[in-house]
Amino acid sequence: NFDMKSKIGIIGMGVMGKSLALNFISNTIGTSVYNRTVQGKEEKIASTFAEENLDLNLRGYDDLGEFLQSLESPKKILLMIPAGSAIDQQLDQLSGFLEKGDIVIDGGNSFYEDSNRRVSEMQEKGIHYLAMGVSGGEEGALKGPSLMPGGNKEAFEQVEDYLKSIAAKDKNGNACMTYVGPEGSGHFIKMVHNSIEYGEMQAIAEVVHLLRFGLRLNPSEISRIMRNWLNDGLQSYLLEITADILAVKEGEEYLLDLILDAAGQKGTGGWSLITALNHHVPYSPLAEAVTARQLSSQKTKRSELSKLFNHSFRAFGEDKVILMERVKNAYMLCRIINHETGYSLMKEVSDKYSWNLNFSEISRIWTNGCIIRSGLMEELVEVYQETDSLLRHKKFISKVKELKKDLTYIIGLGLSHDFALPVFSASANYLLGRIIENSSANLIQAQRDYFGAHTYQRKNDASGAFYHTDWQKAK
Ligand code: NAP
Repeated sequence: NFDMKSKIGIIGMGVMGKSLALNFISNTIGTSVYNRTVQGKEEKIASTFAEENLDLNLRGYDDLGEFLQSLESPKKILLMIPAGSAIDQQLDQLSGFLEKGDIVIDGGNSFYEDSNRRVSEMQEKGIHYLAMGVSGGEEGALKGPSLMPGGNKEAFEQVEDYLKSIAAKDKNGNACMTYVGPEGSGHFIKMVHNSIEYGEMQAIAEVVHLLRFGLRLNPSEISRIMRNWLNDGLQSYLLEITADILAVKEGEEYLLDLILDAAGQKGTGGWSLITALNHHVPYSPLAEAVTARQLSSQKTKRSELSKLFNHSFRAFGEDKVILMERVKNAYMLCRIINHETGYSLMKEVSDKYSWNLNFSEISRIWTNGCIIRSGLMEELVEVYQETDSLLRHKKFISKVKELKKDLTYIIGLGLSHDFALPVFSASANYLLGRIIENSSANLIQAQRDYFGAHTYQRKNDASGAFYHTDWQKAK
């Protein structure tokens, strides 16, 4: 059987590369794997992995040339290595070995503008390039990730069946994988996916703080409440794992209390924010999730200032059962707004690049395998067949109207009791910002004209002409 060439090759035997390799072979897709050998650390990572997972469909190589020779033509190579310069270096190294028509797939979290560039650079050399978002973490990669391939369509068609086999399945049994669009669109939507993930995680963290220190509930109680929510219209993977986390104890203590409250991040949340700024898309709810992680990581400074300001959370004196329901409703609305924010960025960028992204299909491939899978995501599959904004959809308009008073109430209560609620507050402000007809920006325009002669337009002049007032004279 070793005379047979492999269907696919994976470069990078980290957490994701290994899990995807096992997923391919469990679908009887012949797979070759390779990992670089770093000088001074001559581990034979790929061949050892293949020896540990003996399977006729798996071959491990520690030599790049041998690895490439083991692949059928045209070669299909999946890169599962870190984003940034590692990808460019790996592509340089591969160029000498690749032939016209070979296919390279970047399955890492690369920045989509880098992928835009790479798709066209590789195409000039006759190499097909796919920029593919992968979500689901280690378990997803092993059992079925959500896959977001974009780039060269012809290349996609050649790997479509393999990707279908390893992807998660939606509720109708279809693969959570679709051709997203040209250029780096697959990495772009993965970036926005991660940004929504940041927002969801922070919103849940705010809920837990409110319930724990405002309502004085212990983590086991909160875990049980969240399990009820899961069965009561709030199905979500992130909420589900939170319910699990809250219940874990080490001896008498909750493991959560032993974990340092300084959140890490690898870039995709921040990239989304920069992209939103560059494309003039309001992004405050999800931007606040990034800022909250930054603030959290300044633990020493926070400890110092906490003492200087005598900070402590103050418990709420109101009926717990009623408050729990209001927190749930506030969270529900915050989630809707988080998704609206992310999707509005996708819409803007899709229009600018003429990518023609299909938001219903994107929602469908996010209903399983990925981290932001949820009951809400299932609803979005249908909603985005009818509209491109949640805030214009009849069902969501009435939902938002119904939940708004609880979100603003809980924000007021929380802030006045010294809770930080960055994503809750930003989502309410974002919503109001979107629905207020007469905003306060007329004053901003007047101020700009006063100090900088920046001019302004008038409500009563539909021609759009620009005016300037000599404010010194007029005052
Ligand atoms: P990882 O465990 O850190 O593994 C990275 C792999 O890349 C290692 O095998 C490493 O080899 C190799 N590598 C590092 N630098 C390299 C270079 N300059 N040239 C060639 N190979 C290099 O990472 P991972 O979690 O599997 O993630 C891989 C990619 O998938 C990343 O882009 C990540 O953002 C993305 N991703 C991760 C997840 C997740 O949940 N972990 C989910 C979706 C997407 P050495 O052992 O020699 O250093």
